[in-house]
Amino acid sequence: MIGGLGKGLAAFAVSPAFSAGSRPLTLAATALEDPTTKYPKPPFKQQVQPWPALASKMDPKPDHGEKSYKGSGRLAGRKALITGGDSGMGRAAAIAFAREGADVTINYLPAEEADAQEVIQLIKAAGRKAAAIPGDLRDENFCKKLVDDAARQLGGLDILVSNAARQQIHKSLEELTTEQFDWTIKTNIYAPFWLIRSALPYLKLGSAIVATASVQAYDPSEDLVDYALTKAAAMNLVKSLAKQLGPKGIRVNGVAPGPIWTPLQVAEGGSTPDKSFGKKTPMGRPGQPAELAPIYVQLAANEGSYATGQIYGASGGDGQP
Ligand code: NAD
Ligand code: MG
Repeated sequence: MIGGLGKGLAAFAVSPAFSAGSRPLTLAATALEDPTTKYPKPPFKQQVQPWPALASKMDPKPDHGEKSYKGSGRLAGRKALITGGDSGMGRAAAIAFAREGADVTINYLPAEEADAQEVIQLIKAAGRKAAAIPGDLRDENFCKKLVDDAARQLGGLDILVSNAARQQIHKSLEELTTEQFDWTIKTNIYAPFWLIRSALPYLKLGSAIVATASVQAYDPSEDLVDYALTKAAAMNLVKSLAKQLGPKGIRVNGVAPGPIWTPLQVAEGGSTPDKSFGKKTPMGRPGQPAELAPIYVQLAANEGSYATGQIYGASGGDGQP
C-alpha cells in the first residue's frame, strides 16, 4: 500500500477556478486506495484481555491515525475534553484534534494508564497541551470535577466528546444482573448527562458536543440488550439537546460506528469471541478508529456549522443511519 502511494503521487495544477487568488494551487494527487484491502481482514487471532483491555496488546494493533492523520489547522486554539481518549475512537479523535491545533484532555480508567500515556505523548508531539485525568465516570462528583479540572488545565472548554462506554455480552435477560445493567446505564447514560450538564457553563457560542452512539441504536443485537438501549439513548439525547442548545449556538451531534477494531471488542465479556469480526459488512472487514477521526473533526469544526442533531454513520456499509 505504501509503495503504491508513491506511484500515485503526482503534482498537478488545479484549475484556476478552484485556486486561491490568481495563482493556480499545486497539489499532490492522492492515490486511490481500495477500502476493502486497506486494513486487516478476518480471520483474526482469537484474543481476550481482562476488561477494559489495552489497545497496545491487541493483535493486530488498531490504527488510530498515529502515523497517518494530517491536520490543517481546522481546530486551532480549541480546547477539548475526550472521554475514553486512551484508545479506540477516543484516541483517534484525540490525535486528530491535536494535529488540527486543539489542546486536549483525555479521561480513561486507571487500568488504562499505559494506553493513555501513549496518547499524551502523541498530543504533545503535535505541539499541543495535553492533560490526562483518570477516573471512573460512574461517579457524579468525579464527572463534575473532571470537567472543571479539564477547563482549568486547558484555560476553557469548547469541545466535549462523550465517547466512553461499557459493552458486555449477556446471552439472555435472565443472566443480565441488576448490577451489570446498572453498570452499563451508569457509564453510558448517566455519565454523559453529568458531563454535558457540567460542561454547559463553559461552552460558548460555536462550541460542539459530540457523542459516540452505535449502529446498535438502530439495529440492536439480541445479546446486547442493555448496551443497545444506552446507544439509542445517546442518539436520542443528541437530538433533544440539539434542539435545546441550537439557539445558544452550541451544536450536538453523534457518530454511530459499526464494527470497529478496538479494545472494547476484545475485553473479557465485551463481544462474542469471534475471529470473523467485521466480515459480514460489505467491506468484509472491521473499521479502524483512524477511519472515523475525520468525522469527529468535522463535527467539532466551524465548517460543520449547520450540522446539529445529526448522527453520522460509519459502519462499512452495514446498519444505519
Ligand atoms: P475502547 O475500549 O477503546 O473505548 C471505550 C473506553 O471507555 C475505554 O477506553 C475506557 O477508557 C472508557 N470507559 C469505560 N468505562 C468507563 C468508566 N466507568 N469510567 C471511565 N471510562 C470508562 O472502545 P471503542 O470501541 O473505541 O469505544 C468508544 C465508543 O465507541 C463507545 O461509546 C462504544 O460504545 C462506541 N462503539 C464502538 C463500536 C466498536 O465496534 N468498537 C461500535 C459502535 C460504537
Ligand atoms: Mg481503553
